[in-house]
Parts: sequence; C-alpha cells; structure tokens
Amino acid sequence: MTRARSPRPHEVAAARRDPRLLRAISERDLDPAWRARGLCQSVDPETFFPAPSEPTDTAIALCRTCDVQGSCLAWALDVGDCHGVWGGTTPRERRAMLVVWRSDVQSGSYDSERLSELNVLRVLEEVGAASR
Ligand code: SF4
Repeated sequence: MTRARSPRPHEVAAARRDPRLLRAISERDLDPAWRARGLCQSVDPETFFPAPSEPTDTAIALCRTCDVQGSCLAWALDVGDCHGVWGGTTPRERRAMLVVWRSDVQSGSYDSERLSELNVLRVLEEVGAASR
C-alpha cells in the first residue's frame, strides 16, 4: 500500500473555500440520523469504495443529489475517514479538507457569526454554479 502524500498549501487554500466543506460546517449537527436518509443506502457499497485506479464519478454524482451530503461529509471529517467517497468528495479532496477541519472547525474557531457568513457564501456559490 502506498502512503498518501500530504496536501499542498494551494490544495488546503482551495479546500477552505470549497462549497462542500462550507455545507459540511453548517450542517455538521443538523441531522444525527443522516445515514438512514443517504441515497447510497440503495446502491452497491462497492460504488463508493472504488479501487484507486477506478473512477469515482458515479458515486460523486449520486452524492450531489443527496439531501444529507453536508452531514455525511462532516461525519467523515470528524472521524478522519480517508477511504472511499463520502459527502461528494474523494479521499484526496478530504485530506486537504481535513487540514482545515482540524485547524479551524474542531478547534471551535467557527462561531455562529462566521457560520452565518459561510451560509451566505455557500448560497452564492450554489447560485453561481446553477447559472453557469
Ligand atoms: S452524500 Fe453520498 S456517501 Fe453520503 S449519504 Fe449521501 S449518497 Fe451516501
């Protein structure tokens, strides 16, 4: 097994602005029963744990339409899971997000005011993405 490299500074900077991470921050404690509502419940689990050389497109596409994407990604980041697809992210993407999660989120640096700002940013990102 090869060891994953550490995320580079530009990857961490991009992760900090990633709308999926912002959604995970804002939905972290939203739904403790998120797992039962995940769309992946009705799909072969192998789809979400492809071999390193296999594509993740099918799993990511399903996650994009899943109502609990934010809670799911928050869980994966809380436990530091870097295998498979969770919350619409690949293990490589999550390794960069984990740096932000541990330094900013788990340390409690995100107060309610900052969370409100993030929610506004996330909505703006979603509106921007929808109009492209
Ligand atoms: S976001 Fe993806 S991995 Fe998470 S519960 Fe939904 S479908 Fe499953």
